Amino acid sequence: MPISTLRSMSSNWILLYFTSRATTLSMDTGSSFQQLGMQQHLQPPRQQLSGYGKCSTTGSDPGKNPGKAAECSGGSGIEKGPVPMVCSTPCGNPYAGLVSHLRASWLSGKTRPMEYRVAQLEALGRFLDDKKQEILEATELDMGKPSFEAFFSEILLCKNELNITLNNLSHWMKDEHVDKNLVLQLDSAFIRKDPYGVVLIIAPWNYPIHLFLVPLIGAIAAGNCAIIKPSEIAKNTERLIAETLSCYLDNDCFAVVTGGVPETTRLLENKFDYIFFTGSSPVGRIVMTAAAKHLTPVTLELGGKNPCYVSDTCDVTNVARRVVWGRFFNAGQTCIAPDYLLCTIEMQEKLMPALRAAITEFFGPNPRESPDFGRIVSDKQFQRLRALLCSGRVAIGGQTDEAERYIAPTVLADVLPSDPAMQEEIFGPILPIVVIANMDEAIDFINARPRPLAVYAFSCDSKIVNQVLERTSSGGFCGNDTLMHLTLTSLPFGGIGSCGVGKYHGKFTFDTFSHHRGCLHRNMGLETLNSPRYPPYTQQKLGLLTTTFEVKRRGTCTLL
Ligand code: NAD
Repeated sequence: MPISTLRSMSSNWILLYFTSRATTLSMDTGSSFQQLGMQQHLQPPRQQLSGYGKCSTTGSDPGKNPGKAAECSGGSGIEKGPVPMVCSTPCGNPYAGLVSHLRASWLSGKTRPMEYRVAQLEALGRFLDDKKQEILEATELDMGKPSFEAFFSEILLCKNELNITLNNLSHWMKDEHVDKNLVLQLDSAFIRKDPYGVVLIIAPWNYPIHLFLVPLIGAIAAGNCAIIKPSEIAKNTERLIAETLSCYLDNDCFAVVTGGVPETTRLLENKFDYIFFTGSSPVGRIVMTAAAKHLTPVTLELGGKNPCYVSDTCDVTNVARRVVWGRFFNAGQTCIAPDYLLCTIEMQEKLMPALRAAITEFFGPNPRESPDFGRIVSDKQFQRLRALLCSGRVAIGGQTDEAERYIAPTVLADVLPSDPAMQEEIFGPILPIVVIANMDEAIDFINARPRPLAVYAFSCDSKIVNQVLERTSSGGFCGNDTLMHLTLTSLPFGGIGSCGVGKYHGKFTFDTFSHHRGCLHRNMGLETLNSPRYPPYTQQKLGLLTTTFEVKRRGTCTLL
């Protein structure tokens, strides 16, 4: 690939982290380009590259002892470990060599044994333990994430996924034997959980550890190699992942690629065996289009507007506390946060003081001073959110501070469906209330819009909660609370329609990253059993074939 093409690809740094010494290949300097020009093949000679590692963990070289944290001192150069593969001509893509290297590792079969998978998963556990404080600090710097919230969402929930996976892996990996027809009774028919191969995981910024790590747990558990692309928006967390993860994982099989749109666009040109994307719906479309070129299967975990219906029969105080928690956790930057409330005008009146009381109870009289309330991740997001405040009437909050990217926990009353806040996913600390006449109108309102990632319904009458569940469609559902369905690894998590394709969490993540390969292993003998299916065809053979292959509908068998 000509250097000029690479140069025009991005004026920013393009960083590839994938050596056992957490080495970074930077592509913005003349010297780096020279090095790139020399690396044309899958296995180029090892050479010195600018180091970027900042690992200080203990243990041996993960390349030699996969899953064991390496003594990654970082600094300049590398002496050993895999070498960055950057393909120039003919493939012309800066990530082609990396993908080929991972594919070669996968084809070698090293990721398949259970012991290997367990070692890598345990290493991820050590990453979370060793880097806990740094994770809390990085997410605090990125979006003022309160450490309590960061611990819960980025560490505890990830550890749960890890432990559920480690506790069940041997069982999940086992072949599943299935029912057979008469002809195949002496043979073995089973579902083999095969890894896909080389998978790509693209993550967003709002839970920057959780949303790359939970898919990665499943990818490793299922025996894949993986490239992880964290969000460039959560800069501090991106840097932490890039600098330290390679110290824990086998760098022949797992790599972190950093960067924004230009880098991800080039990365997506490569053929992956599976792509797991979490992010916005517009980018989801871009990812799916790129995947379609190679017929690569995808999981898309996208966003949307999650309605929350509050019936007239409910405990207003409890509803307010549960809604305020779900809406303002992570300053509202949660894909399954209740996006807007639907209730009658009478309930809006009753709810308002209860919502105000809950906000004051949780964040004090001035939430700006609360250590438990986060900030907006970027100026762009801040401006977008501030523009939504003109919807309806500001009933609670509404204060903003651009310098701090602070938006107070805000409730907007009497919001109309045509208001700006109802035109897009809010993804911030703003809660509009749309007034409806009754439950039927609320259900019609929900069904007239794209299917959401979550539907919430509050009522003391479980029949009402069940009606909302029955008569709507969404990725997930939670009655009488918000967000809590996500904490169960036993429930599938994922979207439907424009909020996503596929599901994960717990065993669902393992299954997502496994190809369920239908296998039949037949006995070499007993050839007479096969005769009825061979030509020359006769009426008698057809009768035998029907008797041995036919599946009868239950209850239709007549006893003679
Ligand atoms: P985003 O779509 O802007 O970015 C996600 C990832 O895609 C990032 O790594 C980014 O670098 C990359 N990307 C961005 N533009 C790209 C392009 N043109 N081509 C290729 N790659 C590109 O999303 P975000 O702003 O990081 O996250 C917020 C969105 O994610 C919200 O819509 C939210 O609802 C959604 N989300 C969904 C879930 C879920 O589980 N369903 C979880 C968290 C966030």
